[in-house]
Amino acid sequence: MSSFLLNRHKNGVRFLSIPQWDNSKLIKTAFTTRIGGVSSGKYESLNLGERTEDCKRNIEINYSKLCEALELEDIPLVSLKQTHSDKIVEVKKENLPNKKGYMNLGEGDALVTDDPGVALMTFHADCIPVFIFDSKNKAIGLVHSGWKGTVESISVKTFYKMQALYKSRQQDLQICIGPGIGYCCFEIGEDVYALFKEKFFYLEKYAKKTSNEKYHIDLKGLIKRQLEDEGIKNILISQECTVCRKDLFFSHRRDKGSTGRMAAVMRLI
Ligand SMILES: [Zn+2]
Repeated sequence: MSSFLLNRHKNGVRFLSIPQWDNSKLIKTAFTTRIGGVSSGKYESLNLGERTEDCKRNIEINYSKLCEALELEDIPLVSLKQTHSDKIVEVKKENLPNKKGYMNLGEGDALVTDDPGVALMTFHADCIPVFIFDSKNKAIGLVHSGWKGTVESISVKTFYKMQALYKSRQQDLQICIGPGIGYCCFEIGEDVYALFKEKFFYLEKYAKKTSNEKYHIDLKGLIKRQLEDEGIKNILISQECTVCRKDLFFSHRRDKGSTGRMAAVMRLI
């Protein structure tokens, strides 16, 4: 079963979505590609990263195209200043400073809500997006899990947060691990390897040593394992690697830190 499908809006914006979730009519999800915006050069073209050096006006136009493509014009679109932490923020429309448009709620790396009046957004350029959907209690979580967040098991902590706030149970969760840096491209040295090894006794199943004394780690596989160890069974993984697919994605590693940002977006309907 393929987990993600590439869509094209008539305004040119291309984004991935999850067909079985689209069909559920309960939630909308998207992971943007770099296609369909107005930015140029290294930000070509749908750059959504406000903290990049791209022209502000182009980023604004990219946002308006995104909101049109995802039908978010009247819905507040909420993100965080991501810091590779394990901080999780709950979002409620009644607590937001504005009732529509794009806003940033401070620092953190995961968002949860049971409010259909808001859309959650995280930014990515290799770090893994994790979409969590509790179809029984109608709640969602969206996670930015880079290697630090993965070491801190932020996806599992987001599940615990949803359990505490919304009574989410393992058997009611559906999880999609989205496009991000693949096993093929995520290479690290001894020091980072040691941090993983300290946390995960089973790491060797998700890592291999390369000829040049480095290691490759399967971040998506490791996130899935962490969630499975909590008893969550319904987990899909996107096979897309953001480093390999230059045609579709920005990549922090491939582009040596100077690149645009994709967005993961999720909301209840
Ligand atoms: Zn790759």
